[in-house]
Amino acid sequence: SGLTASRSVRVPASVGDPLSAVETPALVCDLDKAETNIRHFEDTMRDFPSVRLRPHFKSHKSVDLCKVQLQSPLVSGFCCQKTSEAEAMAEAGINDILLTNEVVVERKINRLLGLLQRHETLRLAVLVDDPSEASKLSSFAAHAQVELGVLVELDCGGGRCGVTSVQECVSLAQTLHALPALRFRGIQAYHGTAQHLRTPQERKAAIDSVLLTLREVRSRLSELGVPCAEITGGGTGTYLHEAASGVYTEVQAGSFRFNDVDYGANQDAHGVQLSDSEWQFSLSVLSTVMSRNERQRKCVTDAGMKAHSVDSGPPRLLHAVEGAEVRNGGDEHLIITYPEGIAVPQLGSQVSVVPGHCDPTVNMHDFLVATRQGVVVGVFPLARGPGF
Ligand code: PLP
Ligand code: MN
Repeated sequence: SGLTASRSVRVPASVGDPLSAVETPALVCDLDKAETNIRHFEDTMRDFPSVRLRPHFKSHKSVDLCKVQLQSPLVSGFCCQKTSEAEAMAEAGINDILLTNEVVVERKINRLLGLLQRHETLRLAVLVDDPSEASKLSSFAAHAQVELGVLVELDCGGGRCGVTSVQECVSLAQTLHALPALRFRGIQAYHGTAQHLRTPQERKAAIDSVLLTLREVRSRLSELGVPCAEITGGGTGTYLHEAASGVYTEVQAGSFRFNDVDYGANQDAHGVQLSDSEWQFSLSVLSTVMSRNERQRKCVTDAGMKAHSVDSGPPRLLHAVEGAEVRNGGDEHLIITYPEGIAVPQLGSQVSVVPGHCDPTVNMHDFLVATRQGVVVGVFPLARGPGF
């Protein structure tokens, strides 16, 4: 007998509602803009026809949005970061999943193997960065009578997970290739800390240095006769460098569907902030004015830091107002100050803000309210939580 838990979750809107009827604070995605971002992504990838897109589920945690993106001819499958995310996708019928993390706890490994047992067409892989885990995964997969895909994770300089040398990478790849019940598929080389380097020159230099390592790994593996079919990595900030490398076979960008203030602060080659010129701000948090002070030229809305993540700084107004200032007011409050000549929003009126960082913001909400031209067209449940 285990503990059971349940909670009632209030749905913020119904299909057909105007935005004004949506309960706030709510997470809102303008689907037209998200689709514009997906099309722009495809346009930028035209020059690299052999490079596929494996978008990351962690950014939106919505199987409904996966289905929107599956319409893209470039999409081969999806990435996710957590066992629970893999379960949400597999149960929704998505049959090509790369879990971009090491999974070492036996219960979790068995949950993943269970997915392979239950979904016959599922192609599933996880990352490995330790030889002792390799043999453990192999014996578990053999026992479950399924084949689990594995990729070696290479630390690209972020200092997070991953092997840290050519030698370790090659030797772990050899080990994985030799083990029964595992299919060695290749290398993950995702450079997280390069994504928000502000200039394209800095971002390119960071990826160039990873390419030196990857080329060496690739040629050593080919000398050893170890097939390395996949080299995967690349986020919204750098994916064009990976795509142009001739080394990466797929890119994992995710945030570009939404954009956020942090990505909007990246610069183009002329030092101009990209803001929403490269990617549309399709994601926003809808909030309601609960207090205002005309003399101080400010209003306070209900989008505090429990409704959007502040690790990358405060949100900005979706509809930019020159001279307006947005300030964190604590857990449940957002303070917005307007310049002279601009009306301070009335009590009860709604204000949309773009979060500093899209991924952790999404994780705070039970639902994503999908809209087109200000009308709710879907209320998508999110596979959110710490993700066990
Ligand atoms: N791949 C991995 C392994 C990641 O951790 C992330 C995000 O942090 C991504 C891809 C997607 O990057 P982004 O959402 O910045 O495009
Ligand atoms: Mn992120």
